[in-house]
Amino acid sequence: MRDNIYVTSPLLPPLEEFIPYLEQIWQSKHLTNSGPFHQQFEAALAKYLGVEYLSLFSNGTLALLTALQALRVKGEVITTPYSFVATAHTILWNSLKPVFVDIDPKTCNMDPRKIEAAITPETTAILPVHCYGIPCNVDEIQRIADMYDLRVIYDAAHAFGVKENGSSILTHGDLSILSFHATKVFNTVEGGAIICQDAKMKKRIDDLKNFGFANETTVVATGINGKMNEVQAAFGMLQLQHIDQALLNREVIYKRYVEKLAGIKGLRILDKPQNIEWNYAYTPIFIDEIFACSRDELYESLKPHNIFTRRYFYPLISEFPMYRGLPSAQPGLMPVAEKVSASVLCLPIYPTLTLDEVDMITDLIREKSLGHSISPDHCDFKLVLPGI
Ligand SMILES: *Cc1c(COP(=O)(O)O)cnc(C)c1O
Repeated sequence: MRDNIYVTSPLLPPLEEFIPYLEQIWQSKHLTNSGPFHQQFEAALAKYLGVEYLSLFSNGTLALLTALQALRVKGEVITTPYSFVATAHTILWNSLKPVFVDIDPKTCNMDPRKIEAAITPETTAILPVHCYGIPCNVDEIQRIADMYDLRVIYDAAHAFGVKENGSSILTHGDLSILSFHATKVFNTVEGGAIICQDAKMKKRIDDLKNFGFANETTVVATGINGKMNEVQAAFGMLQLQHIDQALLNREVIYKRYVEKLAGIKGLRILDKPQNIEWNYAYTPIFIDEIFACSRDELYESLKPHNIFTRRYFYPLISEFPMYRGLPSAQPGLMPVAEKVSASVLCLPIYPTLTLDEVDMITDLIREKSLGHSISPDHCDFKLVLPGI
């Protein structure tokens, strides 16, 4: 039997290329606390991404937690329900109140037209997500933020390397955060970063991620330990040599999916906007009522073929127990997000996925769309209908 095909597979350089980096670390005995690889990688990454001020973190969630602290955000934070749960968890973990607003059906990002109605005297910040790496409407969000004096933090965990009209998407808002988790387009095993706009803010963020130490004897803030270590940073340096090829492969794979899935009734693939350089982080398709079966039936029907797609993002964050009591989380208030969440399926995409594998996946989906049973001997699953 063929190897399982998962929704993603980590970008991994050849092992032998990593050994010299490890030898350097063993020699220097500098394992963490802003060592030589940390300094090198921070500078190289900022240059690669086309940003000026970047602080490395041990993961994206700590970067988000720290971003809210860095801006001294209080009260209520407007965010999207259509994201990975960490987006909202960092709001709650900071004892702040998340306020969810609906998304735009085309981009799956927070709908700027819904933001103003969610603003109250307690609102101090907006936390949108560049979902799937597709840029938010950053101009409109900034216009609203300026009007109401709100901070803007972008969860750009999906948006590594994305450019709009030729410049980095990461320079918008007050802060942007990246994740370099194993499953992301670019990984340092675990890792993350905050991008900010000036040296003073970078200093505050760097202090906060190191327990609040401003120097050897002065603690200026209630900081945390968010430091990236030398092994992660060295790995990042090596990954930078391979990322451009990985991005090219992703583009070829995505284009193959677009070509092969064209014209299937009831199936839409996420559109790449014209003016962006995308990273092809995910391949979401949306299955509507006129498709031959339900989204969940399609999802299940691929499993016997060892193809494991994911329903990103289902359920919505607002449906999880710690959020569903919030006024903004009530069913019916975010009809677009509910519909998109019920229809989405993310297909496998990673640099080593072959075009033959893409063709096999899309052939199975096309068969299913024609109402054929794609796996008669494995159709033992049952769709559980509500109330039955
Ligand atoms: C992955 C992810 C995070 C969390 O990043 P970690 O590095 O895994 O902590 C946050 N937000 C979004 C949207 C993500 O996809």
